Amino acid sequence: MSTQAPAYELSEGVRRFLAAPKQLLIDGEWVEPVDGRRFDNPDPSTGETIAQVAFAGREDVDRAVRAARRAFEEKRWHGLPPAQRERILARVAELIDEHGDELAELEALDCGKPVTLARRVDVRLAAQHFRYFAGWPTKIEGATLPVSIPNMHVYTRREPVGVCAQIIPWNFPLLMAAWKIAPALAAGCTVVLKPAEQTPLSALRLGELCLEAGVPAGVVNVVTGPGETGAALVEHPLVAKIAFTGSTAVGREIGAKAGRDLKRVTLELGGKSPNVILPDADLDRAVKGSFQAIYYNTGQVCTAGSRLFVPKQHFDDVVSRLAEQARAAKVGPGLDPQTQIGPLVSREQEQRVRGYIERGLAEGAELVAGGDGEKPVEGGYYVNPTLFVSTRDDITIAREEIFGPVLVALPYEDLEEVARRANATEYGLAAGVWTRDVASAHRMAALLEAGDVYVNIWGPSDPSAPFGGIKASGIGREHGREGLDAYLETKTVWVNLA
Ligand code: NAP
Ligand code: MG
Repeated sequence: MSTQAPAYELSEGVRRFLAAPKQLLIDGEWVEPVDGRRFDNPDPSTGETIAQVAFAGREDVDRAVRAARRAFEEKRWHGLPPAQRERILARVAELIDEHGDELAELEALDCGKPVTLARRVDVRLAAQHFRYFAGWPTKIEGATLPVSIPNMHVYTRREPVGVCAQIIPWNFPLLMAAWKIAPALAAGCTVVLKPAEQTPLSALRLGELCLEAGVPAGVVNVVTGPGETGAALVEHPLVAKIAFTGSTAVGREIGAKAGRDLKRVTLELGGKSPNVILPDADLDRAVKGSFQAIYYNTGQVCTAGSRLFVPKQHFDDVVSRLAEQARAAKVGPGLDPQTQIGPLVSREQEQRVRGYIERGLAEGAELVAGGDGEKPVEGGYYVNPTLFVSTRDDITIAREEIFGPVLVALPYEDLEEVARRANATEYGLAAGVWTRDVASAHRMAALLEAGDVYVNIWGPSDPSAPFGGIKASGIGREHGREGLDAYLETKTVWVNLA
């Protein structure tokens, strides 16, 4: 039954944070945008406005990038001893943990995700990311090179690229901010971060925590605003590297601009990830995992397992079990501790997802769960977990990234066939396989075209394990040594000893 928004008691820390004006973090100060513009930030669980947030225009972006450049030139950050930078980054991790409940609440409020999951996943992993990258500053080494020219001493230095423009989406706001800021700082860079306009709050709070931890002024700057703020940031001539996570469409545009300006760029983009259950799989495990693969975070995950391939002999069984779980899932407001599936992030995203559901019906897919239903809270952006079955891979909902709780189950007959069909997509972010057979697992892992392959699990993440896509899912990797390398340049020094 639809109800009015229940009032959840917000913690003292969150209330205090929300009461303060939402400004821009530039050069260690909270400042108003030059033209005083603001935009409304709604609560996706109710549609009501949570806060009015500063809209950074071109001039504000310029101020932020110049501040980051000044901090870089003055070596305020990479000039500090590596051990001191490690301590400061580790302190950021501690502060995230210390304010974990508050950050989870903020995240639940701003993007609608279940507060319990925000605490267990987003906040915990964000702290873990800072802690992992805190270990790097004392371990970034160059090499001495065995060149064949006599009397020549040649060595490499690994140097930070400079000012980094970092643009993130709304699905994991705090975690994406951590994935961007932590490796950049570990490498010695300075950053200007632009969170998504739908979810600016946790990035602003993280900016405060960075200052509190002792990150010097101008090293981490946060500018809030819509796509045009991001575009101004990408185009700024003092930006040396761009790190973007978001849609493939915007990623292409950013990649083109970076190419023209010869800026370093990493892009983490969309996906339409195939999830393959093999005939010998442990079906309980596969069904549970496949449910999580698509419905976790209301399907708003770049690695969502949105195409489920099921062997013909298990098809009806798997589909009916998934449908049953989908119908039983508790959909509700992010702040409700009972909620398993929250709303979508915005009215726009809700409409987009509903548009895909209509398209699925129009193109002849069979709807077995969800697709409609009453909203748990009037005004919120809810879509119930939705399951379609189809025998056609070429329908829109089986090809395009929906970024919502919509799964298409597709039957198949043999292994070679399913690998070919799984790979027949422009994307290549993730792929999964469920099997008890070691040989099939490794064979499929080699056959599937994706940056990540999951065997008997879906979507684990660790700061030490490279993450990113192939094909239209992106360029470059985040996490681990490769993630750090994206923020470093190699300088070769030749010294004539003759
Ligand atoms: P998006 O437009 O790509 O947004 C991602 C980030 O880029 C946001 O901070 C956005 O700002 C910014 N941005 C937008 N246009 C820009 C431009 N021209 N130059 C620089 N920055 C720009 O994604 P969306 O519109 O929020 O979502 C649309 C679809 O993208 C989703 O339905 C989903 O399919 C996909 N998506 C993928 C991921 C992922 O993790 N791979 C994440 C989110 C969305 P504003 O938010 O302020 O506009
Ligand atoms: Mg919001």
